[in-house]
Amino acid sequence: MNLLFMGPPGSGKGTQSKLLCDRYSIVHLSTGDMFREAITNKTEVGMRAKSYMDKGELVPDQVVIDLIRAKVTSLSGKGFILDGFPRTVPQAIALEDLLSGLGLKLDGVFFFDVQKEILVNRLSARRTCRKCNQVVSADDVSKAKCAVNSDGCDFYQRDDDKPEVIAKRIQVYQDQTSPMIEYYKSNPNFLKIDGTQPADQVFQVILNKIS
Ligand code: ADP
Repeated sequence: MNLLFMGPPGSGKGTQSKLLCDRYSIVHLSTGDMFREAITNKTEVGMRAKSYMDKGELVPDQVVIDLIRAKVTSLSGKGFILDGFPRTVPQAIALEDLLSGLGLKLDGVFFFDVQKEILVNRLSARRTCRKCNQVVSADDVSKAKCAVNSDGCDFYQRDDDKPEVIAKRIQVYQDQTSPMIEYYKSNPNFLKIDGTQPADQVFQVILNKIS
């Protein structure tokens, strides 16, 4: 099962990806997580990506496309969820080429629809665990359980979840990513989901569709 999750920053793609990967044995491919890991490891790709991410801009298409190509090719047929890629029309075209070259297709294309005002509130309150990458609202930090470390999570606020960068990211989404949504609307497996519902309800909608 190969799925594509798209939607604005803060629309719940990462949360739903984690729930679904726990349920099925599929791989979560989040380009944002990959770049943050590359930054932590101070790799060349990480250093290049950081300058764009800190400003809320998109990393150049070719850098992201090369990264995803290497990852998808290395999965040797294991199912995946793409979260945060593609984000532009050229990336969507590159993905189509990549998948057709590997004899793969997308079994579900889910668009998480959430209004701008809600996104700003969610992103401002969002905290991310350095160890397991889970995201929670600031109010829920004490309740969270870490998926990879028995000492618990280590939450922080991402630099790009600060107010001045949030506004830029939403603008970039509107300008560069929303035209790509049109590209996928004709896909027979496209489904628009109301991403303002509680996470468990969104999860149920996804499960119903894929079953
Ligand atoms: P969110 O979904 O909350 O916006 P991500 O973790 O997916 O955050 O992405 C964080 C940042 O990483 C983006 O603002 C962008 O700079 C970079 N990035 C991630 N995916 C892509 C992509 N497909 N194309 C270009 N830049 C990307």
